Amino acid sequence: MSAVVYARVPDSLKQALHAHASERALTLTGAVVDLLERGLEAIANQQSLAELERKRAACTSERAQTRARLRESELRVQAAREREQTTAHTYTALAERARQRLASCPQCRQPVRASDLLVNGRCPNPSCRRALSSLLLPAPRAGFDASEYLALLGALGVFVGLAQAATAERQGEPSLERA
Ligand SMILES: [Zn+2]
Repeated sequence: MSAVVYARVPDSLKQALHAHASERALTLTGAVVDLLERGLEAIANQQSLAELERKRAACTSERAQTRARLRESELRVQAAREREQTTAHTYTALAERARQRLASCPQCRQPVRASDLLVNGRCPNPSCRRALSSLLLPAPRAGFDASEYLALLGALGVFVGLAQAATAERQGEPSLERA
């Protein structure tokens, strides 16, 4: 099926059309149809090219964002790892200090370590096991809140116990002995 299109065109364009048709042994109608089809196809291709270009640009910016997010996560992991190392060093130092001899048992004279005092609260001698809280209490002094002081030492003891457990875990030792 075909239809007729009347179109007014400049003389120069009409001459060019005739030349185009005769060069290719086409009728004038054949040349117009061919040129119109090619023109429309070119415009359609240009549009899909622009669409592709837009999608490519979107992909590129998305990739850049993903890369930035990845870098951010890497930095966070690194910071967490450094914090973990610092904590491990602190725990090791605390556990070492807790192993130092601090006093002697008032009953059997067995050396008492800071951990015996703060964590276990008892003499390490199995045949003694005397409670050591008296060693923790300084001489009564005005304005000194002994119960607050003991609560603080209790909290410190928990911390020392954690440090001992964490250090033993890292060294593959069995966890700390409990009274
Ligand atoms: Zn003792």
